[in-house]
Amino acid sequence: MKRLGLLGGMSWESTASYYGLINREVARRLGGLHSADLLLHSVDFAPLAAMQQSGDWDAIGQYLAAAARSLVAQGASAILLCTNTMHRVAPQIEAAIDVPLLHIVEPTGRALAAAGVERVGLLGTRFTLTGDFYIGKLERDHGVEVLVPDADAIDVVNTIIFEELCVGITRSSSRAYFIDTVAELERRGADAVILGCTEIGLLVSSSDLPVPAFDTTWLHAEAAVQFALT
Ligand code: GLU
Repeated sequence: MKRLGLLGGMSWESTASYYGLINREVARRLGGLHSADLLLHSVDFAPLAAMQQSGDWDAIGQYLAAAARSLVAQGASAILLCTNTMHRVAPQIEAAIDVPLLHIVEPTGRALAAAGVERVGLLGTRFTLTGDFYIGKLERDHGVEVLVPDADAIDVVNTIIFEELCVGITRSSSRAYFIDTVAELERRGADAVILGCTEIGLLVSSSDLPVPAFDTTWLHAEAAVQFALT
């Protein structure tokens, strides 16, 4: 089994999900007492979130690249960045290491293609929904059309992510808001929705939603296990 290096803590609530998902999937595939061989560098999210707010992506990239390098030095065969948003600095991390960064968009795009989804709604942070680094990669590399909520809904979703989900709060009013937002994306033509923030699965699951949901946390964790066991 190959050793995985996880960059987590963004937030730790979703990193805890990754840890469970990866270990359970390794145990499911190998049986018995098998569990994942992994290293976790879990950051203090507050200063990094402040850098997101001030647009200091270069400093974030340098910080995460250094953390990734140290995981590789300790034997990680691949790096998993346990957040969609921070993939904005994926090129900086990739340039700093000589092992693969298992990009979160890849398994997501493959799963959409396998399901025949042509037009997909995307939920996530404001950074993910308004930049090109994520939507552009889905559209260019995976040929899927991406729909995002309107500007007001992007703000509300972003606030729920940072002020509730990242600090372990799940409110039924927020769940209802997410469900309505997905219903609106469906009305605009989305065949499915990407839960493009690693905390969203803590609030809603596929069975709550009017269209099939593609949960990036699960897809990313499963792709990591596939890599580790191949
Ligand atoms: N975990 C989140 C994501 O998947 C948001 C936190 C962050 O900004 O990294 O985008």
